[in-house]
Amino acid sequence: MRSLQITAEPSSTDTVERDSTLGDVPGLPSPASGADRAPLMFDVIIAGCGPTGAMLAAELRLHDVRVLVLEKETEPVSFVRIVGLHIRSIELMAMRGLLERILERGRQRPAGGFFAAIDKPVPEGLDSAHAYLLGIPQPVIVHLLEEHAIELGAQVRRGCAVADFEQDDDGVTVELADGERLRSRYLVGCDGGRSTVRKLLGVGFPGEPSRTETLMGEMEVGVPQEEIVAKVTEIRETDRRFSLGPFGERVYRVIVPAAGVGDRAEPPTLEDFKQQLRTIAGTDFGVHSPRWLSRFGDATRLAERYRVGRVLLAGDAAHIHPPIGGQGLNLGVQDAFNLGWKLAAQIRGWAPETLLDTYQAERHPVAEDVLDNTRAQMELLSTEPGPQAVRRLLTELMDFDEVNRHLIEKITAIGIRYDLGAGPDLLGRRLRDLDVKQGHLYDLLHRGRGLLLDRTERLTVGGWSDRVDYLGDPTAVLDVPCVLLRPDGHVAWIGDDQQDLDDHLSRWFGKPAN
Ligand SMILES: Cc1cc2nc3c(=O)[nH]c(=O)nc-3n(C[C@H](O)[C@H](O)[C@H](O)COP(=O)(O)OP(=O)(O)OC[C@H]3O[C@@H](n4cnc5c(N)ncnc54)[C@H](O)[C@@H]3O)c2cc1C
Repeated sequence: MRSLQITAEPSSTDTVERDSTLGDVPGLPSPASGADRAPLMFDVIIAGCGPTGAMLAAELRLHDVRVLVLEKETEPVSFVRIVGLHIRSIELMAMRGLLERILERGRQRPAGGFFAAIDKPVPEGLDSAHAYLLGIPQPVIVHLLEEHAIELGAQVRRGCAVADFEQDDDGVTVELADGERLRSRYLVGCDGGRSTVRKLLGVGFPGEPSRTETLMGEMEVGVPQEEIVAKVTEIRETDRRFSLGPFGERVYRVIVPAAGVGDRAEPPTLEDFKQQLRTIAGTDFGVHSPRWLSRFGDATRLAERYRVGRVLLAGDAAHIHPPIGGQGLNLGVQDAFNLGWKLAAQIRGWAPETLLDTYQAERHPVAEDVLDNTRAQMELLSTEPGPQAVRRLLTELMDFDEVNRHLIEKITAIGIRYDLGAGPDLLGRRLRDLDVKQGHLYDLLHRGRGLLLDRTERLTVGGWSDRVDYLGDPTAVLDVPCVLLRPDGHVAWIGDDQQDLDDHLSRWFGKPAN
């Protein structure tokens, strides 16, 4: 990056000067009189307004952090990919008051049948008030999260690609593709699998390149529905990477293995689809009038580090894997949920020294596990005799409730337990939504603060009351006396001793205010 001439940089509590090119910046203080020439300063710049970037922006705004999201595309994506929101992500939406909005726009389906598309029912009594899958178009999720972030005061600038950055002891100077420079305390790369931020940071992205590619698109067909159903049923007996089904008025969603691994930047043509349909099904079903055509691979990679100084990575920028099991978006949104309050604490000045590093310590192993389960699932989709035999065996094993439950808890992310040290099994896990005397526990988490749920009604959050809420409720259905919840809903402490609680409040929420 060229040497930069940046003038005095205000601290996070200083007045922020407005840049006339930005117009009104919701959530920022009014323009200071006089020296309007100082560079615009944000606490956090987020590269990329996909689901991860939008979720992170909203989480930061809950703590009054000044956020700018830079998105290289001028318009939201035009093609509609239906994705599955799994249980933990639905719970996150409930924890931030977005549940109704998201449920209105999606279709609820049973949570089972996602591991390698092995068709098994959902085990009884999954530990969640939201034990279903929500099928919803990805652009709708992105729009809802972006809208939520903007409502909370985040600014989103479209048509702005991050091209370069330089970090120093006090902040990061970000350069856009058009040469404009912006200054912030932190930069987070939520800029997808080909992340510019990750590449500029020089963070390794080891793993496997794509070995197979799949074509996916929406188009019309020229043959009767019965003919399609019969053929698809026959092919899917052996090849589960193939599907062709109705998807709205006259439109069919076609998924078919590609001939080889090509240039992913080049979209496939309708002729590519026809050829592959003829190879695999013996007919191209008379497909015509495509709405959109795309391809995806099965590359599997994980960033070596999630943080270098003042620059962090989240979502696909940090990990990529094939879409089997529908976990990528969920993983990214959950990264953002884990990172948001920690980065906010760092900026607001109350973060304990190691808090921000727990982001990588907690989320890197979760991504490693997702990458591994997608590798396993891809093997189980192979048409080779060995993997087919393993698939038959696993299908039998999944008749055991514990096996089925374990795999569902993995895919839906409700089985995650962060390593917070020795303690009861609940320590480090997320707490399900409970009925409490005020209604639902998750409704009390909308503001993104910690919460002490105290069944003894003897404890207090004392000097941490500016960061942690208190709920005394002897009627709460819990088999422990008290739990301290972090803003992401994970259990940080269990017990009934005030001194022990204070130690844990310090560990997660820093020094008391008074
Ligand atoms: C066929 C298919 C089906 C899938 N189904 C599911 C599913 O059912 N469930 C699920 O959880 N996941 C699914 N996924 C995965 C999911 O789509 C991704 O994991 C998710 O989009 C990642 O979100 P993200 O915000 O991290 O990255 P992205 O969605 O890639 O967003 C990154 C954003 O950054 C922007 N950007 C890039 N470079 C720059 C730059 N230099 N400056 C500024 N902005 C930049 C991009 O324009 C983009 O808007 C599927 C993926 C595929 C391919």
